[in-house]
Formats: sequence, structure tokens, C-alpha cells
Amino acid sequence: MFEKVLIANRGEIALRVQRACRELGIKTVAVHSEADREAKYVKLADESVCIGPAPSGQSYLNIPAVISAAEVTDAEAIHPGYGFLSENADFAERVEQSGFVFIGPRAETIRLMGDKVSAKDAMKKAGVPCVPGSDGALGDDPDETLRMAKQIGYPVIIKAAGGGGGRGMRVVHTEAALLNSVNMTKAEAQAAFGNPMVYMEKFLTQPRHIEIQVLADEHGNAVYLGERDCSMQRRHQKVLEEAPAPGIDRKLIAAIGERCAEACRTIGYRGAGTFEFLYENNEFYFIEMNTRVQVEHPVTEQITGIDIVQTQLLVAAGKKLPFKQKDIQLRGHSVECRINAEDSHTFVPSPGRITGFHMPGGPGVRVDTHAYHNYMVPPHYDSMIGKLITYGDTREQAIARMRIALSEMVVEGIKTNIPLHVELMNDAAFHQGGTSIHYLENKLGIASK
Ligand code: ADP
Repeated sequence: MFEKVLIANRGEIALRVQRACRELGIKTVAVHSEADREAKYVKLADESVCIGPAPSGQSYLNIPAVISAAEVTDAEAIHPGYGFLSENADFAERVEQSGFVFIGPRAETIRLMGDKVSAKDAMKKAGVPCVPGSDGALGDDPDETLRMAKQIGYPVIIKAAGGGGGRGMRVVHTEAALLNSVNMTKAEAQAAFGNPMVYMEKFLTQPRHIEIQVLADEHGNAVYLGERDCSMQRRHQKVLEEAPAPGIDRKLIAAIGERCAEACRTIGYRGAGTFEFLYENNEFYFIEMNTRVQVEHPVTEQITGIDIVQTQLLVAAGKKLPFKQKDIQLRGHSVECRINAEDSHTFVPSPGRITGFHMPGGPGVRVDTHAYHNYMVPPHYDSMIGKLITYGDTREQAIARMRIALSEMVVEGIKTNIPLHVELMNDAAFHQGGTSIHYLENKLGIASK
């Protein structure tokens, strides 16, 4: 096992990785920006290195600074968390070239899956069902684009090959709007991701977002840890997640899970990963793979009893997966609410000092947060300040526990989206389960972009 791991991230995931390391007896190095100097997990780390000023471009995304921090502290491996450099193939490559272990898949796998066009292509070849759409990127011939959309049928969605985080996509309802939308998405994709390639998919009107968690080692073993339902979204960003997904035939999950595990073996996947699908009329359609740990990984940990972050560390150290598919048993139900420093209805970020902070507890309650009383939420980063996760023998129990936990939770001094979660816990359609990805926006009366 590693003796020392550098955590190239911030916030709750930096703390989550740190806890996993400490439990395994691994020393940790926290890297931080000037804005995160006072963070508790920075103080709890065995060592810390300031890698630059607050803007992430000069700190958390500064590859040479992260690598030299690993050099000066003699760390053996780098855990990238999620976001920032976690899906940056060049970073993974530089880490390995500098003699460190990148805790994640090989750079070439990240590159393959990071481009949504090549990812879809690889998945089609591996027998994973995909959303009907263009074969690869859209070319320059407008007639061909128009013909393709007609063949797929409106509405269609234009998506950037290099897109991520819910950005770089546009829904098109009519032929009249098509070419203009394609050009606008191309221009945006070039500006945001440095890659103008876009592709076309059928826009599914009432799908759910269901994803499969996988773990793979470099000895050819791969397993799936069931699924998560992440359909509660606004602006293509997840708000609340749960596992298992209510109301889906377990046989269908097993079949798609097997496909994902098999795809991992085919592409030589290593580490934790997630296959994201849209699910409609009992069919799964692959949309993308995330080659890292996800924000919502705890709900899977709760129902499988497997520590996903520790398993990442184990397989990165070259060990075999400590379990086989038959050992993975799902038990109970888990729900996660993302707690954001933002206005509950306008979603406008609300950074600032937390003047009152009380976290809930009791049976089946897990809080993953780096925040605390008097913590200053910096304005420079993502607004998520933590995650509230509950577990129960049944979905009803997990929801009841969530309702109580939310009522106990106090965060003062800044606005949070706790009121939105309270509302959702009392929402009849959520209780029933199986709402589509458009449900939340419709409920809130905001139009999807
Ligand atoms: P990102 O990498 O930005 O997260 P994804 O490809 O995972 O992009 O898509 C994010 C979200 O966008 C999905 O969860 C879904 O809500 C919506 N979406 C993407 N593709 C489609 C599609 N073909 N039909 C309907 N909705 C889609």
C-alpha cells in the first residue's frame, strides 16, 4: 500500500479521500489555494502545500504546481477527487511520467471516455446500448445535418464532444432552428472546451437518469455495484440521488450492469467509474462515462457496504479487487441531498461566513461536509458545501430519516438549498418514485435550456 497520498482537490471530497487514507494508515498531503488555507481538512492532513491564489486556474488546475507539491512532500500517488483535474488525461499522463501513481484509470482510457464521440463509439463496440444519433461528430455539410435530424426525428439534442458538467448542449425542436443551434453549440464548445466537435442525439422526452457504478482492477476483474437514480436535476445538474432506482426490474439492472462490467474488461478499465444512462420505456441508453469517483458515490456505499474510495486506493496500488460480483449484495435504500450554498429557488450562489452550523445525526444518517461553524464559503468554487445521506431498510425509511435530518440541520449566515430538499421530501411524485429528468424544472417552473 502507499505510504503517502497527495489529494489534488478541495472541499468535501478532499476530506472524504483523506478519511479513506487515514483509515488505511496512509499519510496525506493536502494541496490548497490561498482561499482554502484555513480549511479544516488542510489542518488535519499530515502535510499541506499552498499551490497558488484563489482562482482555480492558478491553483487546483495548475498541473506543474500540483506535481511539484508531490515532489517536495515525497508523495507516492495522487488522488484527483472529482471535477478539477480528475478527468484531465494530460494531467494523469504527467503524474505517471513524473513517477507518481495516478489514482484513476490510465490516461488513454480517460482520453477515450473524455471525448463523448469516441466514448459512444467504444461503448457501441462493447455492446452497450446508446442513444440513437449521429455516427460520430457532425460534419460541415448542412444538408447532411438536416437529413440526419429528420431521420432521427425531432426533438434532437446537439452535444459537444468535449462537454461536461451539464454544459455544451442544446435541444432543437424544429428544422428551422437546427443549423443555427449547431453553429452556436460549436462556437460555445470551442470557447469552453477548446474543441468545436459536436454530435447529435435523439432528445428523449421523459427519461430517467440511471447510472451504474463500476470498480475494476488491472488484473482483468471488474464488478458493478448496482445503480443510482439521479433524475432529480436542474440545468442538467444533479440535486438529489438515490440507490437503488425505484421501480426498475432487477433483471434489467443485472443485464445492463453485466454489460458495463464487461465493457470495463474490454477497454482495460482501472479504478472506479460510472456509466451514465438515460432510461425510458424499459430501455437503457448510454450517454457518457465518468472516469472518477462521483459526488453521489455514498448512496452506493450505503447499500453495498463497500468503501469506493478505499477500493480506488487498493486497485491503484496494484491490488486485486477484494470481492467478486457474487459477493455484492444490495441491502436497503439510500438517499443523498446535495447541500449547496445558494438560493433555494433562484440557485444564485450565496458564499460567505457560516455563523451557525448544526449537523443532524441518529441511525442511518451520514454527513459528508468540510464546512463547520465560522467556516467561510469562498466565492471562487462550486457552491456545494456538503452532502446529507440517509439509509434505511426501505425507501420509505430512508426518506423519513432524510426528512427528520433536514429538519435538524442548521446552516446560518448564508443561503442554502435546504428548503428545496424539504419540499422534495414532501413531494408526492418523488414519494411515488420514478420521476423523469425534467420533473424538477417543471415543478419549479423553469425551462430547460
Ligand atoms: P455532462 O457531461 O455535461 O453531464 P451528459 O451527456 O451526461 O453531460 O448529460 C447530462 C444531462 O443532460 C443528462 O443527465 C440529461 O438530463 C440531459 N441529456 C443528455 N443527453 C440527452 C438526450 N439525448 N435526451 C434527453 N436528455 C439528455
